[in-house]
Amino acid sequence: MSSRLSGFYRLGLAERRRRVLEACGLTEPRFTAIDPGALPLDVADGMIENVIGTYALPFAVAVNFCVDGADALVPMAIEEPSVVAAASNAARMTRPTGFTTRASAPVMIGQIQVVQIDDVDRGAAAIVEAKDSLLDDARRLVPRLAERGGGPVGLDVRVLARSGADGGMLVVHLHVDCRDAMGANLVNTLCEALADRVARIAGGEPGLRILSNLTDGRTITVRCRVEDAALAGDGTGAEVRAAVASASRFAELDPYRAATHNKGIMNGVDAVLVAAGQDWRAVEAGAHAYAARTGVYRPLAVWREREAGLEGELVMPLAVGTVGGALHNHPSARLALELANVDHADRLAALAGAAGLATNLAALRALATEGIQRGHMALHARGLARAAGATGDLVDRVAAELSACGDVKADRAREVLARLKESP
Ligand code: NAD
Repeated sequence: MSSRLSGFYRLGLAERRRRVLEACGLTEPRFTAIDPGALPLDVADGMIENVIGTYALPFAVAVNFCVDGADALVPMAIEEPSVVAAASNAARMTRPTGFTTRASAPVMIGQIQVVQIDDVDRGAAAIVEAKDSLLDDARRLVPRLAERGGGPVGLDVRVLARSGADGGMLVVHLHVDCRDAMGANLVNTLCEALADRVARIAGGEPGLRILSNLTDGRTITVRCRVEDAALAGDGTGAEVRAAVASASRFAELDPYRAATHNKGIMNGVDAVLVAAGQDWRAVEAGAHAYAARTGVYRPLAVWREREAGLEGELVMPLAVGTVGGALHNHPSARLALELANVDHADRLAALAGAAGLATNLAALRALATEGIQRGHMALHARGLARAAGATGDLVDRVAAELSACGDVKADRAREVLARLKESP
């Protein structure tokens, strides 16, 4: 399967669907999973509380992605214009090598807080002493996960306070290899089951027992290289390369810039996570906590100039699952995994990470060259033209006029449309 679907964005929606079905070897009925109303009301009613309807987002595929030597159509669900285009364009720049990734073992951290301890050092030492026996207990609680090659793999303890209103406080971290599950429920269940024994051993009372979203034991590293000629076809590649590297350095030196740099990464990551029914709030929380782990908020991806090209590297926690969570219920999420040919969590993390590095590259390149607003406003103008009621070729004509006069606003779109309709 090649993800290099040249001119895909210029095709009509029906033709795009046909090309994707063909590329993925699926038949049309499978697309009912992303048709309007795909999520039945009774299923939605079973997913969350107080349901009164469902909420739709555009569902797209980003093209041109080659990740770890295999092409993939990358599913994205997002309301923001230009993210899918940016990801597809940047992915094309990285071909033919594409993105290479390395996933750590899928190890999540469960936290068991213990309070009211008189002697926290003695409590911590007792936990260390009981470590093997606690881990054995934990493993016995998840036999099926162990059969799949996962399960509890480590346990450590940190003293948080020697005294205070709630006495001495320590936290025990249980490290659990969750295989293809995101693992929140799994880890929470384990922590709850172990908490009383942990507290008894530490000489205190059990406090909170829940996973940490700072999943720094479950990271993805994504790398790519872009040649000067791919960065700019007009011979200015070396200048663009230097400008992108400088933009990266700006983010490395300034948290105000780093926040926006990382937002550009999460544009790609979150769009994939939403399409694939993942807990994107969990990934967001982990990403930003990880970015600030040294005490200074830093970029999750950096870019360096190397031998007439740019090399980018993204490292971030990415806890995702291909079993459990919303995948139980959500038809569109299951189709997203099928379209991307994803059958395990590492591959989903690799695609989401590659999408993040791609949208980061596209944003830096645009900012460093023409400024981001031009491309963004062109897409925005098309959205306004449609909202004003334009159809067919009128969409492009209204959008072109709005962009040309630099007044990309809803009332202007209505005016232009009315005029073009009167005198076509
Ligand atoms: P889950 O509760 O659906 O459990 C997944 C189950 O899948 C596992 O218990 C395991 O028995 C089974 N399984 C089947 N095949 C497997 C395989 N190959 N590898 C691993 N497990 C396999 O889901 P979960 O992943 O435990 O929890 C994810 C959910 O928890 C998400 O919906 C998330 O929103 C929610 N959640 C998140 C937080 C948080 O992030 N702070 C807190 C609570 C709940």
